[in-house]
Amino acid sequence: AEVTRFGPSPTGFVHIGGVYVAMIDKDVAARSGGSYVVRVEDTDQSREVGGALEQFARAFDYFRIQPTEGEGPGGDYGPYHQSARERIYLSYVRDLLRQGRAYLCFATRDELADITARQQASKVPPGYYGRWAIWRDADEQRVRAALAEGLPHVVRFRAPDDATGARVRFTDEIRGELEHEANRNDVVILKSSDQPVRLPTYHFAHAVDDHLMRTTLVIRGEEWISSVPLHLQLFAALGFEVPRYAHIAPLMKQISGGKRKLSKRKDPEASVDFYIGAGYPADAVLYYLRGLANGRLAELPLAQALDEPIRLAECGVAGPLVDLVKLEDISADHIATLTGEQIVAALRPWAAAHDPEIVTVLDANPDLALAALAVERVGVDNPRKDLRKWSDFRPAYGFFFTELFEPVTDPADERFGGLDPQLVRSFLTDFADGYQPLADGGEWFDQIRQLATKYNFAPSPKEHKKNPGTYPGSIREAATMVRVALTGSTRSPDLHAVATTLGTDEVRRRLRAV
Ligand code: GLU
Repeated sequence: AEVTRFGPSPTGFVHIGGVYVAMIDKDVAARSGGSYVVRVEDTDQSREVGGALEQFARAFDYFRIQPTEGEGPGGDYGPYHQSARERIYLSYVRDLLRQGRAYLCFATRDELADITARQQASKVPPGYYGRWAIWRDADEQRVRAALAEGLPHVVRFRAPDDATGARVRFTDEIRGELEHEANRNDVVILKSSDQPVRLPTYHFAHAVDDHLMRTTLVIRGEEWISSVPLHLQLFAALGFEVPRYAHIAPLMKQISGGKRKLSKRKDPEASVDFYIGAGYPADAVLYYLRGLANGRLAELPLAQALDEPIRLAECGVAGPLVDLVKLEDISADHIATLTGEQIVAALRPWAAAHDPEIVTVLDANPDLALAALAVERVGVDNPRKDLRKWSDFRPAYGFFFTELFEPVTDPADERFGGLDPQLVRSFLTDFADGYQPLADGGEWFDQIRQLATKYNFAPSPKEHKKNPGTYPGSIREAATMVRVALTGSTRSPDLHAVATTLGTDEVRRRLRAV
């Protein structure tokens, strides 16, 4: 059974890449009957952003990647907030200090800058163990004196003395066997003593937490791959067994002349709120992301792909491109397979958070909602292709509900295509007066045709084109008048179906409103 873990840092907005990695974490753990742990990596308190954890929680709920253990559900290996684990880290730091595997470093910022400047001036490469090596072998008396003086200090890991020139080999579950230079850098493991809480750096917290939380498989972003040599040294120094690693390639964006990482700063679609706010159904997004992880899954129907395991060995080494057009298609196709009841059930929680008026309307008109969702859309084979995400509901279906419909009252409105307002008004009034709900679309169209003839509209667009001065428009413009009055738009589903769904009274009301 695999224990995987996801370590959100509350330092900014939640990146869709985080959902991607967490989805893989959860899938791998669940398939093996193991545990998927979420622990909050909040050791960088100066960069903390309010509300970030709430956003993670929303994203976990929306994309069904709630932890099985850790922050939220709890578990036996907590606390699951790194900031609450201070004493645990300190005890391991003390161990390393006692063994001489770590040392106190009192170098000030100015001293470090000065050393750098001197090194650069003399073009001497930095010391093997870093610029701070001045404290690496400081004698005890000097350290005691600095401590007595109360000088701020950090704790550095002492890279193994034989690291110079050494290579390390390790296995990545995605990339296979890798060989890197051994780490020769004495990195900070415990941050400065002048901070109110003494927290470890990411590297040290990773080793301690993943050991104590019995992680078997570390799945994380590719940016950490270069830290593996250091992490292996830390595990060895601490006497811990090393977990297995899988480094996930980042999600990319196509730009002119190539691709780059999806950027939180530049790309709105990098944020989970983009998907949640627009209301892409979680299943569609998950299906898309699973396809990015394992190409094979993109070939399967959605339900099957959501059920199949994600295999680390099948994850690509190159970052996959996020293509929103593709996602929209997947989403539209997925929604098209849902029944009206399923759509309403999925739409409701989205609307409650993002467009509450829709909930009121759905509650007040449950039958109308189902009838509207059953109306076929004009010119589109698939009945619900115009519903690609939940935020499309209002523009595509809003007009069915009086509460969401803005009646068209001005006969000079530009949606009437420049027809004489006088004519628009009397045509629609006549149509309302004579309107009969009819059983079929042919009869309905005859009603429009008859009235159009009376108002001297050309029988066809072609005929109108031939003699433009003779007619105010063609039968098409006549039908558009009715369409605009009933739906507020020049493009709409089949008018007869719309009228039947709206009901006679509402049809007359809308026609007369103009
Ligand atoms: N907190 C780290 C990050 O946000 C997690 C990396 C890891 O999974 O080890 O990148």
